[in-house]
Amino acid sequence: MTSIKDFHTISDDALVLPPDVSGSDFREAIRAIASIVGDQNIVVHTTQSMKNDEEGHYFNLPKEHDLFYVLEKDVFLASAVVSPGSVEDVSQIVKLANKYLLPLWPTSLGRNLGYGGAAPRLRGSVVLDMGARMNKVIDVNARDRTCLVEPGVSYFALYDYLQANGFQDLWIDSPDLGGGSVMGNALDRGAGYTPYGEHFSMHCGMEVVLPTGEILRTGMGALPDSNTWQTFQYGFGPYPDGLFTQSNFGIVTKMGFWLMPDPGGYEAYLFSFQHDSDLPAIVEIIRELRIKMVIQNGPTIRNTLIDAAVYAPKSHYTASKAVLTDSEIDAIAKDIGVGRWNVYGAMYGPKPMRELQWQALEAAFMQIPGAKYEFAKPRAEGAKQTVLHMREETLKGIPNTYELGWLNWTCERGSLLGFSPISPATGVDANKQYQMVRKRFTEFGFDYIGTFVVGWRELHHIVCLTFDKTKPAERKRAHRCIELLIDDAAKEGYGEYRTHLCFMDQIASVYNWSNGASMKFNEQLKDSLDPNGILAPGKSGIWPARLRGRGFELKRSTEYGLAETH
Ligand code: ADP
Repeated sequence: MTSIKDFHTISDDALVLPPDVSGSDFREAIRAIASIVGDQNIVVHTTQSMKNDEEGHYFNLPKEHDLFYVLEKDVFLASAVVSPGSVEDVSQIVKLANKYLLPLWPTSLGRNLGYGGAAPRLRGSVVLDMGARMNKVIDVNARDRTCLVEPGVSYFALYDYLQANGFQDLWIDSPDLGGGSVMGNALDRGAGYTPYGEHFSMHCGMEVVLPTGEILRTGMGALPDSNTWQTFQYGFGPYPDGLFTQSNFGIVTKMGFWLMPDPGGYEAYLFSFQHDSDLPAIVEIIRELRIKMVIQNGPTIRNTLIDAAVYAPKSHYTASKAVLTDSEIDAIAKDIGVGRWNVYGAMYGPKPMRELQWQALEAAFMQIPGAKYEFAKPRAEGAKQTVLHMREETLKGIPNTYELGWLNWTCERGSLLGFSPISPATGVDANKQYQMVRKRFTEFGFDYIGTFVVGWRELHHIVCLTFDKTKPAERKRAHRCIELLIDDAAKEGYGEYRTHLCFMDQIASVYNWSNGASMKFNEQLKDSLDPNGILAPGKSGIWPARLRGRGFELKRSTEYGLAETH
């Protein structure tokens, strides 16, 4: 990375110029941005300056490229990384970007693991590192149980803020890894595990810099001096908030969230099931309990290997490098004391409420032959911390990073690629999904590591493909495997809820009901809101008119002549 002071030493050839921007315009634009944010808050990148693979880790992620690159390392490479310090900075930068046709890629903390991190979809975009300096908890309201945060507030930071400022009776909701941005995760429509786990549903009010540089407040925030910005989500007229999620229509600079009051009691549990074939019965039970709200949150149904990966890499369990067989997985389940499927859930509320809930849970789950249950008992000094202890924290919104263990399953410093289709919460669909993914994973040489999360009426199937990025053939296998799975899933009526940069075009192309009406609508909005096409080109497969159809969309790998590599 090159500081602005040494910027003149980089030749035009070495710059990662975005399309339609000449070397001299790029230099002028970068200097103009530096005069807004200060020289110390902008760095220019070249292919030589990408962070070394050995240096990158969860708390030191590259901002200019994806640490877990699936295609070549410099495919999704930023030309520069800028850290604005205020909403006004962002607005001014956006105005300059329009003048120079400079693509901007906003990211909050860039810990979007398995989906591309902070890296931009279009090579040469300038990453706006929104979280680096804009990282304040602006407000917490104890009466309404709400907060207002900037992009750089992580789950750890919000939790610590509440603990340190007398709000210990307010809970937050953290996803599996607590280092991500509260805002960034909600904008990518991520989820956590308390009753407030559906993050976008629990947001209330946004401040957004539009692609023209104008600043908008949504919901009640449109009313000057509003006193309900964080308490009533809709305001008056059309409700635009959803348009700023997984999109490229605006840069969010403030976002409100509802916080859950301590429910007055809590207990986490694990139901474990011994047979691979138990999955459909488990899902049928959970759907009914969840829709009827006996289960108040989104419980997870985890396979043996996801728990095993939290404890140790594959090499700890076996010398085999091959895809594990059922009997090998059974042996690992026995070794770590879990089932083939494991439901981690929790009960919330005072004891009498939990007792009634428990009666319903026990009666339902224990009908499955071989089912067992346990509670997270306090750990004796020196006793092993089990996945149940870890989930006990996550299920009450305490941020942590235990699940980083997944990354090392295949190799040390391994990589993760997420595949996340949605299906109905039925046993038939869960099983079809599981078989479909396991078959492809076996074909391409990967162990199935996954979890089914029952949001409310649907199943989020979260599949973790772990791979060794230092092996180009393995990266190609990983890429091709997910590419085929997206098509397999679409044929069965399943679509992904979120994806890695390299599959955005493909997934957008399968959401094509009625001659692609959805994409036509998105493109119409894009062209009207962002006529110069400067904001996050290609995000979710949405390309602005200026760049559309010019070869920036990623085709299927077979169309590039990449031979099937398995
Ligand atoms: P996290 O650190 O929680 O994983 P990221 O910062 O990686 O979240 O954000 C996830 C995605 O959400 C980004 O790739 C980007 O598309 C979008 N995003 C994040 N922050 C903003 C923002 N402030 N404005 C608009 N979009 C954003």
